[in-house]
Amino acid sequence: MEKNFDCGQAMAEAERCLLCHDAPCSKGCPALTNPGEFIRKLRLRNVAGAIRTVKENNILGGACGALCPTARLCEKECAATGIDRPIRIGKIQRFLVEHSWKIGFKPFAGGRFELPRPVKGKVAVIGAGPAGLACAAELAKNGCQVTVFEERAEPGGVLRYGVPGFRLSAEFLKKELEDIKALGVTFRCSQGIKGPDGAEKLLKKGFQAVFIGIGLWAPVRPPFGGKEGANVIASVRFLELYRGKPAQLRKLCGGKPVAVIGGGSVAVDCARTALRLGAEDVYLVYRRSFAQMPAEELERIEALNEGIHFLPLNQPTGYARDARGNLTGVKLVRTRLSGKDSSGRRKPSDVKGSDWVLDAGACIEAIGNKPEERSLSLGRLISADPGTGRTSKAGIFAGGDIVRGPATVVQAVADGKAAARAIMKQLAK
Ligand SMILES: Cc1cc2nc3c(=O)[nH]c(=O)nc-3n(C[C@H](O)[C@H](O)[C@H](O)COP(=O)(O)OP(=O)(O)OC[C@H]3O[C@@H](n4cnc5c(N)ncnc54)[C@H](O)[C@@H]3O)c2cc1C
Ligand code: SF4
Repeated sequence: MEKNFDCGQAMAEAERCLLCHDAPCSKGCPALTNPGEFIRKLRLRNVAGAIRTVKENNILGGACGALCPTARLCEKECAATGIDRPIRIGKIQRFLVEHSWKIGFKPFAGGRFELPRPVKGKVAVIGAGPAGLACAAELAKNGCQVTVFEERAEPGGVLRYGVPGFRLSAEFLKKELEDIKALGVTFRCSQGIKGPDGAEKLLKKGFQAVFIGIGLWAPVRPPFGGKEGANVIASVRFLELYRGKPAQLRKLCGGKPVAVIGGGSVAVDCARTALRLGAEDVYLVYRRSFAQMPAEELERIEALNEGIHFLPLNQPTGYARDARGNLTGVKLVRTRLSGKDSSGRRKPSDVKGSDWVLDAGACIEAIGNKPEERSLSLGRLISADPGTGRTSKAGIFAGGDIVRGPATVVQAVADGKAAARAIMKQLAK
């Protein structure tokens, strides 16, 4: 994981803050982490207070500090103040959380969240990703007895089984999870809640409310179809294996040219991971232009600097295989941008006769994730009120990617917190 600010650097960065009266940076944070307040406290050398502000507002403050696309959130608002360059808010935030671990400072011990307290209600959370974790933490801080049911062996969701370790290490995540466990949240891992009526069954078992934050774990396949397997793998499986069984992937990518299809952050993560697995060359194939790629600019630049080859304006049309069915390449056709599509972007259209084959010994499909067919939501996004996470079923709330579609960690945290507030209101009735 990339090295972050040390204490001196964090202080120096906080010193640059203009201390705006209305703290636009705080308004730019979906999870209300309140950078205006924690930067002000850090400037006044109140480090403990600054850590408390981060962790009280955002239990995943460390992970958000490391992963948030700050250039389009808090730091965008900071840039709009006219400051010469925006304060590196994410880096300061991550420093504060890492510093709390370094000095053994427990933001919730001996403070107003001290346990045990009278139990105000019993709530189940399905899914231990950022949305579920934020919801669980918020409820536990406010005196609820919370049980988190997680299908996989460990909590963390995409933070554990998606984002590669060179961006968020297992050790970092473990410490952030310890902060949640310290609040008294119970985790039941390897206990997926099955069936479309799984949440209702938990209500019948005595939970007074249920929050669903199960994310998106089924891959979207390219329109030309073609079989997964035989050296073609979906990003979701590729990244999950990288966290658990990297040796298998070394065999898949090692010494070969590897193609990655997609232009988002997940595609860039896969490309950088393939490089670390010993791929000879990694090609990122995207049908639109470099500037239109949904991946953050910083991620694209990091990937370029690492030696990833970008192949924008190329549309995959199929796989080339040898007689034994092994992948030998990805069939492509060049594209050019023409009139605008429904998203307002110039749309790619194929250039006739420009078909070619990119040599590839392995291909990672990273064009998106969707809800799993056999999940609680039966392959569909769940519809929930954006301000409260309330669904059409009494006592059942939902948030994060399973409601929004592919989004961000900080938005999942925001949803988890909002649903927790609505659940507490319901329990108080
Ligand atoms: C590779 C990758 C990189 C990303 N990088 C970034 C980034 O840099 N910055 C950023 O802000 N966002 C990033 N994102 C997006 C971000 O990770 C997601 O928006 C966020 O994790 C969504 O949180 P969630 O809690 O809704 O779902 P998830 O993180 O998907 O968690 C859902 C959890 O529910 C569990 N679950 C599923 N079904 C069941 C069931 N039936 N019973 C019990 N448990 C179940 C899953 O195992 C999982 O643990 C990335 C996403 C990916 C895939
Ligand atoms: S949580 Fe993310 S968006 Fe919010 S202030 Fe922190 S770094 Fe910025």
